[in-house]
Amino acid sequence: MILILDCDNTLYPASTNLMALNDAGIAGYITNVLGIPPREANELRLGYLRKYGTTIAGLMAERNVDPDEFMEYVHSYDVDSLVEPNPRLREFLLAVNVPRVVLTSANRAHTEKVAQAVGVLDCIDAIYDLKAVDYIGKPHPHAYEKVLGDFPGERAVFVDDRMLNFPPAHELGMTNVWVDEGYHPPPSDITPALSVFHDEMRSLVADSDAFVDFTIRRIEELADIWPQVVEKVER
Ligand SMILES: [Mg+2]
Repeated sequence: MILILDCDNTLYPASTNLMALNDAGIAGYITNVLGIPPREANELRLGYLRKYGTTIAGLMAERNVDPDEFMEYVHSYDVDSLVEPNPRLREFLLAVNVPRVVLTSANRAHTEKVAQAVGVLDCIDAIYDLKAVDYIGKPHPHAYEKVLGDFPGERAVFVDDRMLNFPPAHELGMTNVWVDEGYHPPPSDITPALSVFHDEMRSLVADSDAFVDFTIRRIEELADIWPQVVEKVER
């Protein structure tokens, strides 16, 4: 058995609102680095999000963008002053007797900064960032299969905040834990690109029973439901 954790909005509460910073970073990259005016940049992102699931997947496919350079630009803010330590999560991860990996569409540097700020970096056995999955991130099955390939025969518990990421995990036989804080960012922070995530959430939530096994509000609640999760995995 292995435990697969998402990074952003999962290792820390969504209300930390790093999404707004990521969103501004992505918009900044498209405008400042690619030289596309803001209004057009917005349209571009909306198109990519709908067609590829993430902006970077579209930028790579259609604009030949270097994903490493993109990630570095987008995640250039100071994580440490925003993300709080989570001693309960640390205690849980130290006690749980299975490999603990992070599967994220961010880069390794950002993931390490987040895990360090949360206080769990030394509890993580492996980080699968976008590069480690050949730049084919969630929700593409390749990302999940890449992790499973390194743990042959092991069943996985998959923990994420994004509803779109659960159906492929379910297809692959994973036990899914949805971290849903119920957080709604201030309307001024919901850019057109972020509204795609909200629309996607609304449309998928109706069917979530089909592919979500457990729902918790915060990641440290994994400790409370862990016995049931293990029972479900071993059934
Ligand atoms: Mg996430």
